[in-house]
Amino acid sequence: MFIEPTFYQKNQGWIEVICGSMFSGKSEELIRRLKRAHIANQKVEIFKPLIDNRYDDEDIVSHDQSRIHSTPVGAAQRILLLAQDVEVIGIDEAQFFDENLPEVCESLAQNGLRVIVAGLDKDFLGRPFGTIPQLLAIADTVTKLHAICMKCGGLATHSFRKVSSKEQVVLGEKESYEPRCRKCFMEGQKLNAQVANRMEDNEMDI
Ligand code: ZN
Repeated sequence: MFIEPTFYQKNQGWIEVICGSMFSGKSEELIRRLKRAHIANQKVEIFKPLIDNRYDDEDIVSHDQSRIHSTPVGAAQRILLLAQDVEVIGIDEAQFFDENLPEVCESLAQNGLRVIVAGLDKDFLGRPFGTIPQLLAIADTVTKLHAICMKCGGLATHSFRKVSSKEQVVLGEKESYEPRCRKCFMEGQKLNAQVANRMEDNEMDI
């Protein structure tokens, strides 16, 4: 669990990143921190990318059904306009925002805001996702969460895609992905490649 640093001074400006694989509890952790800020009478705003409308248009909903109101935005720059008179900003599914997000977070922090960003650190091929690498670099604190590997029960760091698609973004989590450790992820990737090759061979035969 993340314990808020005692050296953090209100209004000093601050960036926190919560990252990890799917099902690692990123949204739950984001909501927990935001609720605490809200209880402390701080003005809290939450933003998420427009692309993420899996469950609800207005709420960030985590897998354990705890929810918090949020504003969907199409471009990262919009957050600057919408974040007037706010002390704490939450940003969920940060990997889906455009390339301006790190700059936006930096300028919010420079204006004295506490910025809490949650996002997937790796895509379905295990590659760094979107601007998360930059956000990790400019963050004041980083929390990397782990899920449980669905194959071996170890700590999962990867999001394994069970359906075949080359697109980086396939929504509809539970049916399409499962968390896996590095070893089980690699084994799954190998099997997927074999299946894809076989399908290509069959197509050529026809
Ligand atoms: Zn495993």
